[in-house]
Amino acid sequence: MEFNFLKLPEKGERICFSDGKVHAPSNPVIPYIEGDGIGPDIMRASRRVFDSAVRKAYGGRKEVVWFEILGGEKAFKACGEYLPEDTLKAIEYYVAAIKGPLTTPVGGGHRSLNVTIRQKLDLYACVRPVRYFAGVPSPVKHPEKLNVVIFRENTEDVYIGSEWESGSKEAKGMIEYLNRKLGTNIRAESGIGIKPISSFATKRLMRKALNYAIEHERSSITIMHKGNIMKWTEGAFREWAYETAREEFGEIVAEEGQANARGKILIKDRIADSMFQQVLTRPDEYDLIVAPNLNGDYISDACAAQVGGLGIAPGANIGDGVAVFEATHGTAPKYANQDKVNPGSLILSGAMMFDYIGWEEVSQIIVEAFGETIRQKRVTYDLARRMEGIAELKTSEFASAIVENIG
Ligand code: NAP
Repeated sequence: MEFNFLKLPEKGERICFSDGKVHAPSNPVIPYIEGDGIGPDIMRASRRVFDSAVRKAYGGRKEVVWFEILGGEKAFKACGEYLPEDTLKAIEYYVAAIKGPLTTPVGGGHRSLNVTIRQKLDLYACVRPVRYFAGVPSPVKHPEKLNVVIFRENTEDVYIGSEWESGSKEAKGMIEYLNRKLGTNIRAESGIGIKPISSFATKRLMRKALNYAIEHERSSITIMHKGNIMKWTEGAFREWAYETAREEFGEIVAEEGQANARGKILIKDRIADSMFQQVLTRPDEYDLIVAPNLNGDYISDACAAQVGGLGIAPGANIGDGVAVFEATHGTAPKYANQDKVNPGSLILSGAMMFDYIGWEEVSQIIVEAFGETIRQKRVTYDLARRMEGIAELKTSEFASAIVENIG
């Protein structure tokens, strides 16, 4: 592998992806992007937790070789680009990577680097597990009843960025075409956006969710859509998702109301607005949720809030092999370099990463020690301010408490 300016690490081997499986050596090189704002604080804390869990699991027989790759402001300072080609090449080459949050300027400047990474590497599934950790303050009475994994489509829908401003030549041209040729009645001064949803993208997402459900012994998949209104995009999403389950996994799935469903993965669907009610009123009836991009975005944050907030919500963007694990919150610039914020989101994303590369022991150690630390009421400011009589820990102190619990 040739890079323009990145230097290959001297030790360590590549993780490979073949026959639909991830194969990790005992000394995998894992690239990481530190991130902007609070990124350096949470990445530093997280890597201490990761290394400690790996040591605990394997007693020195296995070890991660961390490889810093650049993104965001640090990259711009080093080479004049926010997302250098080397960074994308390294992620693709080493298969699994982890990143802190990156700044996206509002209304101008560069495009979202996060969206660019997802699109360039075709990381089509955004996977967000949402579960409760005992002791985390939550706005609902029984947060422990929610334990879902959201599979959000990452490459289509209104997120493709094809939008034209009100009054622009493109918007006017589009409106004229639509009104004249297709009989619509769109107001002349409207802004216009495009919402594509394809069978290809829907089916590969559903396939990934089904494989995940099998591997992780999950019992149901709910297709979340607004197909009653948007028939040929979200309605089609529903149809194609059911089709994938029936045609490719027919032996092991059943649909709601079907006889002989015992032991099978139940496939059901819910209209998007009802889904928001259901996760609040009947949270234990949901397991995996498969959604188009925008629905998936909304429901992920709503579910994260229900179990205690974004500060501890992990996430991953996964393609066919290549995967980037990331904190789901942003760069929280007002807290940059204050050693203050919760590194939980990145730590739990790391646990997902170890699970993905087949180091399940490490993942389990991290999740258990994280849960134990919260149970001991040793938390950062964001949780401490919602708990009574709790002194807050710094980011680094919280990481030390987890390391102590790892033992
Ligand atoms: P944000 O960075 O997520 O911060 C919003 C608020 O969330 C913070 O002020 C803080 O709340 C809380 N928060 C975030 N991370 C936390 C943590 N680790 N621990 C505790 N509390 C945390 O959202 P934003 O201010 O809208 O976005 C800032 C920048 O991040 C933007 O440039 C945006 O584009 C970018 N962004 C990047 C990603 C990504 O890289 N994946 C994702 C989202 C946003 P309090 O003020 O209440 O303490």
